[in-house]
Amino acid sequence: MCYSDDPATSRGAGHAHDWRVAVEHALHAAGLRTSSARAAVLDWITVAERPFTAEMIVQQLVNGWGTGSRPTVYRTVDWLRGGGWLARLHREGNDRAYVRSLPGGYQLICTDCGESQIITDLALALLVAPRLQDLGFELQHEHLELYGRCRQCRRAEATIRKEAASAVAPDSLSATQGV
Ligand SMILES: [Zn+2]
Repeated sequence: MCYSDDPATSRGAGHAHDWRVAVEHALHAAGLRTSSARAAVLDWITVAERPFTAEMIVQQLVNGWGTGSRPTVYRTVDWLRGGGWLARLHREGNDRAYVRSLPGGYQLICTDCGESQIITDLALALLVAPRLQDLGFELQHEHLELYGRCRQCRRAEATIRKEAASAVAPDSLSATQGV
């Protein structure tokens, strides 16, 4: 449903390419070389449009195309997750599923089409810091998934509603009583 690239959000091809470039920099900064097997994993993740599991990568890359190995896939996924480049989704039915992320980013996941977006300008840690300090709690890790419906899915529904409304009830009273 949500295949169009919206420049106002982090979804789409442009963002995925930025993700790939940023990960590459992080790998080099960590002194890790980009082996062809590791690059294949990164390429796979870069074009993934929906939440995915490490096993899905193994199935396609290792079992399907004979590229790399299961340990390479899992090590790469672990490294990306540790650096905040992947977020693991915790919602029921999405267990062990990952989406691309950015360090310090939070996930918006559309419950209709499954696409995820990343928000990076939510300074949640700053917001909760005073309260955590009151409680004597030291923050080590944060994770936030926000579930809802993306702009494209909402637009699609609004269009359907509008069509249904004009077909059934042109009366303005019944229209204003709607939710
Ligand atoms: Zn959607």
